[in-house]
Amino acid sequence: MTPDQQTTERATILDLQNVTCHYQANQPAVQNISISAQEGEIICLLGPSGCGKTTTLRAIAGFEKVTTGEIFLNGQLVSSANTHTPTERRRVGMVFQDYALFPHLRVKENVSFGLQALSRTSRQERTATMLDLVGLTGFEQRYPHELSGGQQQRVALARALAPNPVILLMDEPFSNLDPDMTIKMRNELYRLLRQTNTTAVLVTHDHQEAFAMADRVAVLEDGILVQYDTPETIYHRPTCQFVAEFVGKADFIPGVIQNGTIETEIGAFPNQGGYQGNSKVIVMVRPDDIKMSQSTSKHAKIISRQFRGSQHLYAIELATGHIVHSVEPSDHSYEVNTNVSLEIIATHTVLFEHPTESTS
Ligand code: ADP
Ligand code: MG
Repeated sequence: MTPDQQTTERATILDLQNVTCHYQANQPAVQNISISAQEGEIICLLGPSGCGKTTTLRAIAGFEKVTTGEIFLNGQLVSSANTHTPTERRRVGMVFQDYALFPHLRVKENVSFGLQALSRTSRQERTATMLDLVGLTGFEQRYPHELSGGQQQRVALARALAPNPVILLMDEPFSNLDPDMTIKMRNELYRLLRQTNTTAVLVTHDHQEAFAMADRVAVLEDGILVQYDTPETIYHRPTCQFVAEFVGKADFIPGVIQNGTIETEIGAFPNQGGYQGNSKVIVMVRPDDIKMSQSTSKHAKIISRQFRGSQHLYAIELATGHIVHSVEPSDHSYEVNTNVSLEIIATHTVLFEHPTESTS
């Protein structure tokens, strides 16, 4: 590697190549997962319950064996059909859903637990540094049951980061916190990971959390990786309807490609992608892609309104019966049953194949 490359390229810390794991024969829990993470990158495994997030994380940690494929940590092969480096030799830090603190050990003993290789003085110093980093200086002598949920989580984080792991693995770390605390801890965790340039894999089923935290998001569906990309691309350019719906509100309306544009009931969309497939397509529309205004035309009518603080979410029924949604600032309030006209403000068009095209 030339010095130039060293400054511009970050090392690949995690690399999964076609990883498949089974709990039962003939029924893979995850299949052909390929993802990688560069040094300092935060990646999220996102998907509904049972899609294989925890299995993938546990395979990286070495708690599960892989059936086929390879896992590399810091350039070292740690898992394959014939290789299985035990967890304690992988230098991974883990934060579990329930934090898994040692209940009979004080905060400082929990944090110094993984530092046995250090001298007594270095261990004390490192523990103090970690407690300072997570804002728990002064809590050294407490037991876990004497701490709030957020404080317990900070201890778990300090314990996981203390031995300076190659990678930090976290499985739904915010699920035991109330919503206000979740947002606070999410911000804290983000700051801490960036400050320490820690490479991390965060498991979550919450797309907002994935978007807030991740450099790249891996979306899993039924054990299969369906998209791995930046939050912006996942949201604006989902590769399938499952991703489109999982990461935000999305409506799907039929369209027809005509003269280089996609004609739909609510107007024409540009065919920037130069979609060459079947002439019938499905167009994804997000509520922020539609602006509405009151109209005398009866093509579209508001059928429901949901107050969301700074915005209203409207459901609008089109003449064909298709329903689309629009978010509007709360100071623009329309009554249910108002006829509206719709303006599309999408900067790009997301198309999917029309499922009935082949048979119609
Ligand atoms: P997630 O974390 O996304 O909810 P998991 O990785 O826990 O999903 O589970 C993936 C699949 O593997 C699911 O079908 C689940 O039922 C199955 N599974 C998970 N753990 C076990 C296990 N210990 N034994 C058998 N099947 C399991
Ligand atoms: Mg899980």
